Parts: sequence; structure tokens; C-alpha cells
Amino acid sequence: MLRKQIAAANWKMNLSFQQAEQLLDSLVAQSHSLSDNRQVILAVPFPYLDMAKKKTSLIPHFFIAAQNCYSKKAGAFTGETSADMLVSLRVTHVLVGHSERREYFSESNQFLAEKIDASLAAGLTPVFCCGEALPVREAGTQNAFVAKQLSESLFHLDAEQLKKIIIAYEPIWAIGTGKTASSQQAQEMHAAIRSELQKKYDAATAESISILYGGSVKGSNAAELFAMKDVDGGLVGGASLDAAEFSTIIDALK
Ligand code: PEP
Repeated sequence: MLRKQIAAANWKMNLSFQQAEQLLDSLVAQSHSLSDNRQVILAVPFPYLDMAKKKTSLIPHFFIAAQNCYSKKAGAFTGETSADMLVSLRVTHVLVGHSERREYFSESNQFLAEKIDASLAAGLTPVFCCGEALPVREAGTQNAFVAKQLSESLFHLDAEQLKKIIIAYEPIWAIGTGKTASSQQAQEMHAAIRSELQKKYDAATAESISILYGGSVKGSNAAELFAMKDVDGGLVGGASLDAAEFSTIIDALK
């Protein structure tokens, strides 16, 4: 089975509603003809989800994601958004465990495991983000660090559940810094992640899961990164706010 090759955009907390409409119109106008194994996932701010879904619903292989959801099903959790609410807006994907959520909102591996469960139970596809900070990389312990993130947030799932997940490896030192991991560094970590999946599950499961690279992906470096054997596309922050730049990234998918 061919793994899905995915260009995912993370708009974070950027753009007015009107700017978001314009960016979507420009992306849609580029009319990418995506083959069946390619996908575009746009993680837009909560208030824009419905509009984004309406603007892209006729575009094949385009999906709308939320950037977060809460772990509980419903109830007195003021300000939170449940996975079921996202599904009711026809949202299909959700980012879980972005490093900014881990850092600024103290989201632990255990809490993220609950969000993974809530997302899967609602029928959403989680895009699970993992990755190490600079001191971990400098100490050379990044593989063990990422393996722990995987095991504490994902490895309670059975193989069928795990197969529904997309993984994004995002070294924190490369996010929003302009400093991209080399294609070799990305490939090494993606292969290490796949080997963890194989150890815990089996080779077929490990081979079936898309692993995206994130961290200062741009039009100019996407093709080199995406060409690596275990890199199945990218999760893109800054460069996804520019339609032409993000279109170049979509066109760089294998
Ligand atoms: C991200 O937010 O997931 C990200 C990778 O950001 P950037 O592309 O701006 O580094």
C-alpha cells in the first residue's frame, strides 16, 4: 500500500477572517490536481473552520483540521472545543500535541494520550506532533526522547487504531526559526520513529503510517526533504500563510 503523501498547513493564531478567506480562495484557484495518494490538510483557527470547510469541500483531497481539541466529550469546560463539535462541522483532522501546546499550555504525554483517544472515538484523524528541543539534540538523546513521546501518547492503541494516525516529527529548534533539519537528520529520525512502530506493532503497520516533517519547511527546501524515503510530506507553519509558497510545497510531494 502506498503511504499517503501529505502537505499540512498550520496557520496557528494568524490572519483575520477576511485574510483567511483570501488565502483559501488563492489556494483553491491554484487547482492542484492531486493524485489519490496525496492530501492537503489545512489546520485553521477555530472560528474559520466552517468557512474553510465550505470553501474547500469540492476540492478533491483537501481536508480541514482543527489545531487542538479537548479530551472530554462534553460538559462544563468553558472555552474548550470537543472532538464531536469538530466532527459536526465536518472537520476531519486535528493536530494533537503541537510543541507550542506542550510548552505554553503544559500538555503532557499522558494528557495527549487522552486527546488521541477522544479524537479517534469521534472519528477524527489525529496528526500527532512530536520532537525534541535543542538541548536534547545537543545531548544526542533525541531518539529516546521521541520514542518516549510515542510510547506515552500512542502505544496504548491497538494496530488498527494506530493506523488511523498521522505522525509529524517537528524538532522544536527548527520550528519558526528558519533553521531546517537537514534532509539527512529528518530521514534518520523518521526511520527511527518507523522502527519504534515496527518494534511495538509490526512492519506492515509501521510502513503504512505517514510521517511528516515540520520545522521551517519552505518552497525552496520541500522537495529535498520530501524526497527522503521515510519523509511523507510536511507540516508547515510560516510558509503556509502564503498561497504561492504553500502551492510550491504541495507540488513537491512525492
Ligand atoms: C509548525 O508550526 O508546525 C511549524 C513547523 O512551523 P514553521 O514551519 O513556521 O517552522
